[in-house]
Amino acid sequence: MGLFDEVKQNVTVRQAAERYGLKLNRSGLIRCIFHNDKSPSMKVDRRYYCFGCGCTGDAIDFTAQLFGLGLRDAAMKLADDFGIKYSARGRDSPARRNVLIRKPEPTPEEQWEKEYMRCLKAYLDYRILLQDWKEQYRPRTRTEEWDERFITALRELVIVNYYLDTLLFGEHADKEAIVREKREEIENIERKCKRYFNERGKRFDKENDSYGEPGGLSGNQRNPEYDRKRDSQKFNGELCDRIKKRSTVSR
Ligand SMILES: [Zn+2]
Repeated sequence: MGLFDEVKQNVTVRQAAERYGLKLNRSGLIRCIFHNDKSPSMKVDRRYYCFGCGCTGDAIDFTAQLFGLGLRDAAMKLADDFGIKYSARGRDSPARRNVLIRKPEPTPEEQWEKEYMRCLKAYLDYRILLQDWKEQYRPRTRTEEWDERFITALRELVIVNYYLDTLLFGEHADKEAIVREKREEIENIERKCKRYFNERGKRFDKENDSYGEPGGLSGNQRNPEYDRKRDSQKFNGELCDRIKKRSTVSR
């Protein structure tokens, strides 16, 4: 096997992070090395994923960023530091191509990580949708009948916040229970969010187009939160911070 495959198969991001002196908190999070991260938002395991900026990758990507190296140099550094042997001419040899066709079965750890991340992302996205609804469809007068979406938002936000809190900071068994029991719900949420974000994207683009047009001021209903909300991943990051703060206080 060549350098890249050997390293990827043998070194997890978590191992690299620990080896290079980064301290994980109890949730397995570190401060993101890709953006200016005030509190830890980067989950490190086999791969890394940042809830703040959305970046993700393997140990080689991680090490390249950490030390400002190219990918090949980063892979060689990891191979050296972890004592990994590799065939120097692996890259172009036909034998390697054959090996690559068969993808190794995901380990239970990888499988779990994948499902966990999927669940977490779905609830983070859903939370954005609900917060939008809560704001967008809130009653503007006392007598107005409440919009169904406003009511849904009020009800579901409480539940979604609870799930997110558990997924991020709960005991492993509780996380597992949510991921296992909510599989079907997650699929529904993903569909719902996909549709919603598609439509919202189109709407935002339209609003943004008319913004700044001469005389377009009166028609422009641009929300001051526009830029912040538009970038969902940044928004998710702030959300993580808020959740973290809250759960620290309640402990
Ligand atoms: Zn980040």
